[in-house]
Amino acid sequence: MKIYNTLSKRKEEFVPLEEGKVKMYVCGPTVYNLIHIGNARPMIVFDTVRRYMEHKGYEVNYVSNFTDVDDKIIKKAIEEGVDASVISERYIAECKKDMAAMNVKPATTHPKATEEICGMLDMIGTLIEKGHAYTAPDGTVYFRTRSFKGYGKLSHKNLDELQGGNRSLLVTGEDQKEDPLDFVLWKPKKEGEPYWESPWCNGRPGWHIECSVMSKKYLGDEIDIHAGGEDLIFPHHENEIAQSEAANDKPFAKYWMHNAFLNIDNRKMSKSAGNFFTVRDISEKYDLQVLRFFMLSAHYRSPLNFSAELMEAAKNGYDRIVTSVSNLNYLLDHAASDTMSEDEKQLVEEAKAFIGSFDEAMDDDFNTADALAAIFELVKFANTNANAECSSEFIKALKDEIVMLSDICGLIVEKKQEMLDGDIEALIEERQAARKAKNFQRADEIRNELLDKGIVLEDTREGVKWKRV
Ligand code: AMP
Ligand code: ZN
Repeated sequence: MKIYNTLSKRKEEFVPLEEGKVKMYVCGPTVYNLIHIGNARPMIVFDTVRRYMEHKGYEVNYVSNFTDVDDKIIKKAIEEGVDASVISERYIAECKKDMAAMNVKPATTHPKATEEICGMLDMIGTLIEKGHAYTAPDGTVYFRTRSFKGYGKLSHKNLDELQGGNRSLLVTGEDQKEDPLDFVLWKPKKEGEPYWESPWCNGRPGWHIECSVMSKKYLGDEIDIHAGGEDLIFPHHENEIAQSEAANDKPFAKYWMHNAFLNIDNRKMSKSAGNFFTVRDISEKYDLQVLRFFMLSAHYRSPLNFSAELMEAAKNGYDRIVTSVSNLNYLLDHAASDTMSEDEKQLVEEAKAFIGSFDEAMDDDFNTADALAAIFELVKFANTNANAECSSEFIKALKDEIVMLSDICGLIVEKKQEMLDGDIEALIEERQAARKAKNFQRADEIRNELLDKGIVLEDTREGVKWKRV
């Protein structure tokens, strides 16, 4: 399995630190509003990376944080006259609803920055002790960027280039810094803001230290994969590397993965630019599985432009798989025989080639566009070869393969078929008749068949009642 590593700018063979295990950290959203579909891109693509790795047999420890202390959260709390935690808790709950609707698995751990302050104080203390950080007169703690030799290795920038680019900082009043390249680890509180006590001043952490600390606590000093959107490469991830490696004296993450932007009219979708759709907006028009399909229809390192036409194309693509599975389910219920013929066995062998192309695409730095193409080939194969003369074993083999590959992409393609009220009642009548005839075996079969379809029977004095569960 090859992963493009931003650190080496190359595709590298994935070798986990510990055999059979993957430790993965994905930077999560700042929770001051409903998430937009730009935020949904890393959620969906890295959830798919996780699912593929799990399918390959790895045990994945997946950590994704919520940044729940931030200027924007505080601003909104002041506007609404509530505590900052009211805002962050509200949007964490909303974000989790959106994730569930997009079939993004909950992380193994979803740490919140405000619950990890102790670890931040520890790491900042260590950095000061080691000479990598210093306190300014007002109590702000800065990281001494030039003290970390590898600074710039992720973003492939050199310090002098950065120094030039950052010259403007010299005139922004940050003159208490030793060097314009230094960045904040801890900052003093302002009136009305949440704060924590520290040896340096009452205040709150800088954003970068949060992820270094949460990653260390839940995954250890060294991790396999660290991921996020490409806007995080600099300065966020560059600073995380500096903090973690300077504090722990160990390489931080082995592979750095970054998704490209979701754009609209070829500009990055962002809350600050105001050119965004929330996941909730999209859910009013589409099943969010369509949004998931749309995100996976491009390689994660390619920019993706959001448009109504592409969403319609995604809808058609997704529906094609769902329809094929639903047709196979119909054929399954009406199959001519049970066991596979020799010819059918041969076809099932042929169909395994699609798993091969799917895996090949995913092994090549998670090329989900080609992986979806392999699913389409399989769907075409199933549509061509499955018919009313086939055995149920054969139909099921094809259906299971489509469902399995879709599931690795997190796509739900098998909708639970709802039984019509009339069909339920007909079966209940048949069951009553079977009971009268003392054919209890058939009566039980019917009860179980209904249960399979989510219908529960209750025998009461007034007769049989049923409900959907
Ligand atoms: P934020 O809440 O801005 O910190 O973003 C949370 C995650 O969403 C980060 O990994 C960002 O890089 C990512 N992200 C934000 N906007 C976009 C976008 N338009 N396209 C792709 N990823 C994005
Ligand atoms: Zn982060």
